[in-house]
Amino acid sequence: MFATLTLPPDAAGIARAATLLRAGGLVAFPTETVYGLGGDATCDAAVAGIYAAKGRPAHNPLIVHVPDLAAAERLAVFDAPARALAAAFWPGPLTLVLPLRPDAGLSPRITAGHARVALRVPAHPLARALLRACARPLAGPSANPSGKVSPTTAAHVLHGLAGRIAAVLDGGPCPVGVESTILAPGTPTELLRPGGLPAEAIARVLGAAPLRPADAARPVAPGQLASHYAPEAALRLDVTAPEPGELWIGFGPCPGAALSLSETGDLAQAAARLFATLREADRRAGPGGRIAVAPIPATGLGLAINDRLARAAAPRP
Ligand code: AMP
Ligand code: MG
Repeated sequence: MFATLTLPPDAAGIARAATLLRAGGLVAFPTETVYGLGGDATCDAAVAGIYAAKGRPAHNPLIVHVPDLAAAERLAVFDAPARALAAAFWPGPLTLVLPLRPDAGLSPRITAGHARVALRVPAHPLARALLRACARPLAGPSANPSGKVSPTTAAHVLHGLAGRIAAVLDGGPCPVGVESTILAPGTPTELLRPGGLPAEAIARVLGAAPLRPADAARPVAPGQLASHYAPEAALRLDVTAPEPGELWIGFGPCPGAALSLSETGDLAQAAARLFATLREADRRAGPGGRIAVAPIPATGLGLAINDRLARAAAPRP
């Protein structure tokens, strides 16, 4: 049990966070997508600690955060398409799953036994400063108990993990609000998880839309469990007429909605508000409560929003 520190987003806070991380401690940090639960990816004890703090199944591999493409190339093998994707979208909300270099020096728990490693170069200035200061690749799954709603503020992190991690670096709300898009570059390039980088932008660089593994009748990425992002309340989707007793979350004009992802129907705003709105709806709905969500278009960031909502609504294990 720790008294979890809240560190300020300044040079002293970053230095303290880096010291804790270099000593094998766990520090949650802001990224443009959601808060990550940081730990030294080369330190087996730190990585084991991440799984323990989250209650994450050991078969669900972790994304490694690095400061730039050069650092990424020390961990994984890049071919031309992978390099083109990195050049176009890093730093940013894109994770690439690539062949792990045998000499990468990462804890074997990072990849959960897979031959490929997931890498990302985050754009958030505090994440970048922290990566530079600690000079280690950082494992960074979302900083929440496994299966629960992802955190987009330091308060969300503390709500789920206070007492289980050394510190949280408080950078305010995350601007994108949904996790990174995960791609496995190849022939064809596979979209393992829709996320903060819209698939349409990827298609423009690749010259073809990335394929969902489901489209190709392939198993989904490890750890992409059906039920995830789950609030306590029951969730019903694509609701244009809520039932009595349901707390309605709107998108666009929804007269009578209790909360809204975006009054103007803006998908970027809806993504940024998604997880905080689910938490607030859960709080207002109370024990045994029911939440209904208005339809969200399945284009651009809507793909990621609908993916998270579908998992939040899925039957719980
Ligand atoms: P998160 O819970 O946001 O950290 O998401 C991590 C997800 O990235 C996992 O659930 C996997 O679906 C995917 N992932 C991470 N590492 C790998 C890997 N080595 N191979 C395939 N998918 C991966
Ligand atoms: Mg997560």
